[in-house]
Amino acid sequence: MKKYNFNAGPSVLPDVVLEAAAKAIIDFDGTGLSLLSISHRTPEFEAVLSEAQSLFRELLNIPDNYKIYFVGGGASTQFFHIPANFLGKKAGYIHTGVWTKKAIKEAKLFGEVDVLASSEDKNFTYIPKGFEIPADLDYLYICANNTIYGTEYKEDIDSPVPVIADMSSNILSRPIDVSKYAVIYGGAQKNLAPAGVSFVIVRDDMLGKVARELPSMVNVNTHVDNNSMFNTPPVFPIYVLRETLKWMKAEGGLEVIYRRNQEKAAKLYAEIDRNSLFRGTAATEDRSSMNICFVMSEGNEALAAEFMEFAKSRGMVGIKGHRLVGGFRASCYNACSVEAVDALVACMQEFEQMHK
Ligand SMILES: *Cc1c(COP(=O)(O)O)cnc(C)c1O
Repeated sequence: MKKYNFNAGPSVLPDVVLEAAAKAIIDFDGTGLSLLSISHRTPEFEAVLSEAQSLFRELLNIPDNYKIYFVGGGASTQFFHIPANFLGKKAGYIHTGVWTKKAIKEAKLFGEVDVLASSEDKNFTYIPKGFEIPADLDYLYICANNTIYGTEYKEDIDSPVPVIADMSSNILSRPIDVSKYAVIYGGAQKNLAPAGVSFVIVRDDMLGKVARELPSMVNVNTHVDNNSMFNTPPVFPIYVLRETLKWMKAEGGLEVIYRRNQEKAAKLYAEIDRNSLFRGTAATEDRSSMNICFVMSEGNEALAAEFMEFAKSRGMVGIKGHRLVGGFRASCYNACSVEAVDALVACMQEFEQMHK
């Protein structure tokens, strides 16, 4: 049976990318050697790294005054890299869930943290709005897409202070104005690659901002100055990342991917709203186009386990909601097809018919 992969992360990757990755493990770009068994300093791998950077730049329209590098440790490592490098005295954080909770905890090790707004009062089902941004902050920190709760900032924030954004789960899902951000980072395993590599996009004027002495691996300058090659970078995830970016470009670029993401999200939210057995959990205006969260509607809660089994029997994979939200979550990342969403919608409609 065909499987439809809605996993939240690590998650679905395009078939052509998986095929290229499998091939490279056996014979890397015609070298006769495995990608896993060569030096990261060979010209062949340096070409991979360099193409990954230039494709990222091209697809996201990253201006020249930004550097981009790849590093291990996941997004959780960036939770402390960010304040270590950029928090001198005080930073502002917008608290929208588990990922900002962890980021705030780490930032407090380095300076004062002002939580400017929070959606904790409603279990993070919305994005706070209308908060004041004091001009004396070193930076404003947001999580652009809250993977667990299915909420997403729909606009790039206008801010008098540098904006730093965790875009782990919505990077390259839609066009953004990079110039409105000072730093954009994320783990690649949601929308771009297997686990093991993070991307960091940093504006030149942020480098060397804070005079704190740091271990080399924590210092952003180390990674920028050595172009992701201070130590052995995560070679395999970077290769897969490049393949994903090549795929994106071949599909027509970010605008095409974005329109497809809009179509998928519109279809699934429309069904959640139409189908009397289900309801969405996130505030309508803040609904994520990547992670679509829903539960059984009032009075139908008892059907949850049955729907899960039914969906599984129709090939749906990974739609169980995060334990903090419950219900269901369909993660519709770039490589999730319209066909997969159509299959999930059909499954929800069929389930409704069975319970008329
Ligand atoms: C998954 C996720 C993280 C954590 O990523 P790791 O690479 O596992 O550390 C952080 N932020 C967001 C938004 C995520 O979705």
